[in-house]
Amino acid sequence: MTSDVMVLGAGMVGVSAALHLQKRGRSVVLVDRGGVAEQTSYGNAGIIQVEGVVPYPFPRDVGKLAQYAFNMLPEAHLHWSALPSLAPWLWRYFLASTEAGQARSAAGAKPLVLASIVEHEALMREAGIDSVLRRTGYLRLYRHARQFDLAIAQETQDRERYGVNFEAVTAAGVRQLEPHLTESFHAALLMPDPVSVPDPGAVGKAYGDLFFKRGGRLERGEARTLEQTSDGGWQVQGDHGAIRAREAVVCLGPWSDDVLRKLKTWVPLGSKRGYHMHYTARGNATLNRPVLDTDNGYVLTAMTQGIRLTTGAEVARRDAAPTPVQLDRVEPAARRMFPLENRVDPQPWLGRRPCLPDMLPAIGPVPGAQGLWVNFGHHHLGFTLGPVSGRLLAEMLTGEAPFTNPAAYRLDRFG
Ligand SMILES: Cc1cc2nc3c(=O)[nH]c(=O)nc-3n(C[C@H](O)[C@H](O)[C@H](O)COP(=O)(O)OP(=O)(O)OC[C@H]3O[C@@H](n4cnc5c(N)ncnc54)[C@H](O)[C@@H]3O)c2cc1C
Repeated sequence: MTSDVMVLGAGMVGVSAALHLQKRGRSVVLVDRGGVAEQTSYGNAGIIQVEGVVPYPFPRDVGKLAQYAFNMLPEAHLHWSALPSLAPWLWRYFLASTEAGQARSAAGAKPLVLASIVEHEALMREAGIDSVLRRTGYLRLYRHARQFDLAIAQETQDRERYGVNFEAVTAAGVRQLEPHLTESFHAALLMPDPVSVPDPGAVGKAYGDLFFKRGGRLERGEARTLEQTSDGGWQVQGDHGAIRAREAVVCLGPWSDDVLRKLKTWVPLGSKRGYHMHYTARGNATLNRPVLDTDNGYVLTAMTQGIRLTTGAEVARRDAAPTPVQLDRVEPAARRMFPLENRVDPQPWLGRRPCLPDMLPAIGPVPGAQGLWVNFGHHHLGFTLGPVSGRLLAEMLTGEAPFTNPAAYRLDRFG
C-alpha cells in the first residue's frame, strides 16, 4: 500500500507533523525503529517554553569558555576526544552566537515559540488530555545578589526586545511558592507564561493514539534505507517489507543527518546530550512547578515517575557511551535544595538535543530531492515546538499558506 506521506521518526516532532498532515486529508504512515516518543521526546523536562525566544548561545566570554573547556562548570561537560569531529558544527555555532546572530535567531524563533502553547492545547484537547497542563510557570533560583542583578538586567532587555515576561520573587516569595525547598535563596525569577506537563513521553503517546484513532499507522522500519523509487516516490525497508509513499518527511531529531548524508545533503547538526534521573521525595514533599538551579544548570520537576532531575548540556559525539558525570556533580546540590530520597531508575537516561548552529529548526523541502521534506533540529525546545512546527511543515507540504514566513528555517541556509 502506498501512502501519501511517510513521516520518518515518531518523536514529538514526527507525531505532531503526522497529525497535521492527516488533518489536511493526507494518508500518513509513521516509520520508526521503536515506538512513539520513546527517545529524546520521552525524557525531557516537559516545559513548553513560550519564553524561549532567545536561543542558548555559544559562550563567547574567554573566561567562561576556559571554564567550560576544562569541565569546571556543572552545567556543561565536554568530551575532548569529540572536538575534531564536532569542530565544523561548533565553529558555526560560535559564529552564529554574536549579538547580531542571536537577534536573528530570536526573530526566527519568535513566531514558532509564541504559538507553541496554543498548538499544544489544540492537540491536547483533541487527544482528551488537556487537563495535564500545569499553568504554574517555572522558577529560576539564584543564591547570589550579583547573578540575580545580572539576570534581571538581561531579562529586562529581553522583555523590551521580545516581550518575554518575568517576575522578580523575593526569598520569602520563593518559600511561599515552593514550601518544600530546603535551601534558602537570595531571590528568584518566575517565568509566568511557560506551562509544563508531568510526563512528556505520555503526551507524545497520547498524540500517537489520536493519530492511530484517525486511521494512521506506525510501521517499524529503518530510515537509513530511504531511497527514491523509479516513479518518483520514496521507500524504506520495514520489518514486514518495503514501506512506500509519494512524499517523505525526515523527523529523526538527532539522527536526521544519517539519512540526509546518504542522500548527499550535508547539514551541520550536532547534539547537546543531557541526562535525567528520577528520585523519590521524603514525606509529602513536592514541587509546584519546575525549578532551575542557575548555579548548577539542572532542572528539578515533579513527574509521574518521581522528581525528575535533568542536566545541562554534554558536548560529545552523539553515539558515544553515556558519561553521566554531570548528574553525579549536581546531585549533592539538588539534595541540599530539595528532600530527594532514593534514585528510582537503574541507570541515568541519556537524551540528545538536536542542534543546528543558529538554534533554529530546519523545516521545509530538501532542495534537489522532489517530494522529500525535513522537520528537525529543535534543540532545547523540541517538546515545545513539535506541534507548531508540525503545522508549518504540513501547511508547506500541502500548498496551504504558511502561518508564518518559513524562510528562516530553510535547510540550505548553511551554504
Ligand atoms: C535533558 C533534556 C531536557 C529537555 N527539556 C526540554 C523541555 O523542557 N522543553 C522542550 O521543549 N524541550 C526539551 N528538550 C528537548 C527535546 O526533548 C527535543 O528537542 C525533542 O524531544 C526532539 O524531538 P524529536 O521528535 O525531533 O526527536 P526524538 O524524540 O529523538 O525522535 C526521533 C525519532 O527518530 C527515530 N529514529 C532515529 N533514527 C532512526 C532510524 N535510523 N530509523 C528509524 N527510526 C529512527 C527514533 O527512534 C525516535 O523515535 C530537552 C532535551 C533533553 C535531552
